[in-house]
Amino acid sequence: MTKWRSDLWEKASAYIPGGVNSPVRAFRKVGGTPIFIDHARGCYLYDCDGKEYIDYVMSWGPLILGHAHPRVISAVKKACEKGTSFGAPTEGEAVFAEMIVKAVPSIEKVRLVSSGTEATMTAIRLARGFTGKDDIIKFEGCYHGHSDSLLVKAGSGAATFGMPDSLGVPADFARHTVTLPYNDVEGFARAVEENQDTLACVIVEPVAANMGVVPPTEGFLGALRDYCSRHDILLVLDEVITAFRVAYGGAQDLYGITPDLTTLGKIIGGGMPIGAVGGKAIIMDELAPDGGVYQAGTLSGNPVAVAAGIATLKVLSEESPYEGLNRLTCMFADGLRAITEKLSIPSCVTQVGSMMSLFFTDETVRDFHAVLRADAAKYRSYFRGMLNKGIYLAPSPYEATFLSTAHTEQDIERTLEAARESLREI
Ligand SMILES: *Cc1c(COP(=O)(O)O)cnc(C)c1O
Repeated sequence: MTKWRSDLWEKASAYIPGGVNSPVRAFRKVGGTPIFIDHARGCYLYDCDGKEYIDYVMSWGPLILGHAHPRVISAVKKACEKGTSFGAPTEGEAVFAEMIVKAVPSIEKVRLVSSGTEATMTAIRLARGFTGKDDIIKFEGCYHGHSDSLLVKAGSGAATFGMPDSLGVPADFARHTVTLPYNDVEGFARAVEENQDTLACVIVEPVAANMGVVPPTEGFLGALRDYCSRHDILLVLDEVITAFRVAYGGAQDLYGITPDLTTLGKIIGGGMPIGAVGGKAIIMDELAPDGGVYQAGTLSGNPVAVAAGIATLKVLSEESPYEGLNRLTCMFADGLRAITEKLSIPSCVTQVGSMMSLFFTDETVRDFHAVLRADAAKYRSYFRGMLNKGIYLAPSPYEATFLSTAHTEQDIERTLEAARESLREI
């Protein structure tokens, strides 16, 4: 049976660059070759060799209801039967937009796109168009998709004008992106004062979840809001992961922060490709056709994705599973803290709602530099140990662990049992 899987990897590697359609799937940070998934149910993944895993990737965040939730699948089937795309308005889009506006406190109008990358790209263009300024601030270790302006990190030190992270991003583009350490209010204040006349917006993950989970420190988000308001800079909260994840109304609801623009994705598509940008009507109306900022998409507001999104949000608003998810994730996080302490393994376990991370480090992780100082080799052996025991963690030390409403206490107990053994061997 294993032969079949290696054949798949050979074929994929021959015809797809790196064998994958998104780089982190390639297992480069953890060694070995990826597992190929045949199907999934609830919190369980089944690979093409028939092996079962408890899944903590959950498609990198979208599947808060677990895999193949009956109500989502039924909504998708129904939508498909009516046709998969029309390129014209549908009832679902209006219904879905209203649901999002009612759920996320700062959003008055919302435009649907097909991915989180498109959402953040659009938010940046809109912020530039609305303010008439070109520069943006982003934070190291925050990921906002792979568009040119956002694929930038700084060298060390504060307020360094960016160098591109990728070949093919013109330096002229990257120059408009100022990159700063996450959770550093002083560095941020300095950068705003130095660049206030040219800054269109600040974009931030309200809970950083693309360098592992790094929560905002007390006062960080509030400081961003204050400085932006004072200097006519738009605050863009990238809630592609956090909206409907840390709370139904997103991190802005949880922390009481009102951004000018919000980007959404992942959960709002229920596992189908989608993204959205929303915010104050006066800003959103700058988008074409009413305004001069161009944005469009053949499959934007796709009826099948919208149906999956509506079904997902309905279940979430009816069941309000957030307390339960938080309790279960605390059980996992506390369990890992106890195990690593007993084994004298330096660790920092971070957790916000149903997402968490285990960093192999003895410091409290507050920014990307601390993340990079953690022991990646230990993560690699931990990951491999867990995979062998049927636990599928993110194949990179820089990604979050996601729980869903399909995970149970028994699943967490089984996972902690596997962690106890795996961590003994690292
Ligand atoms: C995943 C993610 C994106 C990009 O979304 P895609 O759908 O992968 O393009 C943007 N921002 C954040 C915070 C994300 O987690």
